[in-house]
Amino acid sequence: MKYLTKGELCDKLSAPIFHEISATADELDVECYVVGGYVRDLFLERPTNDIDIVVVGSGIAMAEALAKRLGKRANLSVFRNFGTAQVKYRGQEIEFVGARKESYTHDSRKPIVEDGSLEDDQNRRDFTINAMAVCLNASRFGELVDPFNGLRDLEDGIIATPLDPDITFSDDPLRMLRCIRFATQLNFMIEDETFEALERNKDRLEIISTERICDELQKIMRSPTPSKGFIDLYRSGLLHLILPELVAMDLVETRNGKSHKNNFYHTLEVLDNIAKVTDNVWLRWGALLHDIGKPKSKRWEVSIGWTFHNHNFIGLKMVPNIFRRLKLPLDERMKYVQKLVGLHMRPIAIADEEVTDSAVRRLLFEAGDDIEDLMTLCEADVTSKNEVRKKTFMHNFQLVRQKLVDIEEKDRVRNFQPPVSGDEIMDLFDLQPCREVGILKQSLKDAILDGIIPNERAAALNYICEKAHNMGLTKSLSATIE
Ligand code: ATP
Ligand code: MG
Repeated sequence: MKYLTKGELCDKLSAPIFHEISATADELDVECYVVGGYVRDLFLERPTNDIDIVVVGSGIAMAEALAKRLGKRANLSVFRNFGTAQVKYRGQEIEFVGARKESYTHDSRKPIVEDGSLEDDQNRRDFTINAMAVCLNASRFGELVDPFNGLRDLEDGIIATPLDPDITFSDDPLRMLRCIRFATQLNFMIEDETFEALERNKDRLEIISTERICDELQKIMRSPTPSKGFIDLYRSGLLHLILPELVAMDLVETRNGKSHKNNFYHTLEVLDNIAKVTDNVWLRWGALLHDIGKPKSKRWEVSIGWTFHNHNFIGLKMVPNIFRRLKLPLDERMKYVQKLVGLHMRPIAIADEEVTDSAVRRLLFEAGDDIEDLMTLCEADVTSKNEVRKKTFMHNFQLVRQKLVDIEEKDRVRNFQPPVSGDEIMDLFDLQPCREVGILKQSLKDAILDGIIPNERAAALNYICEKAHNMGLTKSLSATIE
């Protein structure tokens, strides 16, 4: 964080738009401040486009006057029900609101709003670092108003509520998730009393819509070190309400001196590993859920020890329920996550043994264009503390990657389309849709994927004819297939 003097703050606010706002406020003779996230991000030197302006008076009147002043290039929207207005100008969105005082009822996060002072307005904000205001009136331009020492908390890396955290969180429980989200995005600590209030108020989350919860969860997922958010969610008890399947993974059982690893912390390590190499949030979801089927598949087998047979399959079947519950998209993005969960063991299994062409060809066929992402997930999945073991895996993954390139070049199975179609098979042997057609199609696919024949039409036709002959089928005299 950078401490800014008043002069430096003035420089930061030197964009013409602030001077237009300043002049408009002076003309209307109202106090006017830039406030909240914009001020916080000025000190953190984070880029922001949304500018929030508080006017001690009418936000709408101020926005209307500004839009008039800026002329045609400004676009004004007024939300009378909310008492707010927005001006869009040269790619920036400027929100205007009159300073307000809020009070809450128990069953809603929508407050009862009255006009108030700047102080009232700062009191209703969620965190000290989000409650700073900078005056824009010419006589006080660049003056910081920071009643809760937000600047000190910014410097110390602390998230704390301005007032009693129990009231702040109970009034609007979404703030609990915002708290953890800001701590994760900024890599800040949650102050002790604020954290304890999270634990006490967790059940208030029930009045928050799933969409809002999910928005915050996605912001945590997109952060540089998402595990931090999940650990805070877990420690506060919020994760139990949002993703109990993940909580079930925090378990280590020991029998006959044999323990299995803690899959919760392993998962978080994989998530952080993948966050270092990709911004693709769905690939990150793949990492978060890759072992989600483990608790359900866990068995103790006397001769082997702990096993998690089919956890990938069980996991992929759990994904739609989780996505539906969290109102995540149920489209190809979910299918992609399912595919990653379902296939995440395959490259490891291949890398663990001899890397055969046939195994690689089948993997390439099943993963299709998502093969790169799958390999990225598998590499992130190696969290062994044993450096020798880790090196061996990484080396074998390199072999798998090389083989993937070689085989794709030779056989083009990534987006596999059989060189002889089902319709053609029916035409060739004068068949109606029946079991035999399915058998022939499958055996052709297997022959190509196992490398028995090349992925070429002439070889495929030959193979089909021979196979059909063995099944007692005769070629149709009227067939037109070459
Ligand atoms: P980001 O834009 O990264 O989400 P932000 O702090 O700008 O962060 P916004 O949701 O844009 O967050 O809100 C702007 C400001 O409004 C915040 O900085 C905070 O002062 C206030 N605010 C937003 N949501 C709440 C809330 N639920 N409770 C109290 N104050 C809030
Ligand atoms: Mg914002």
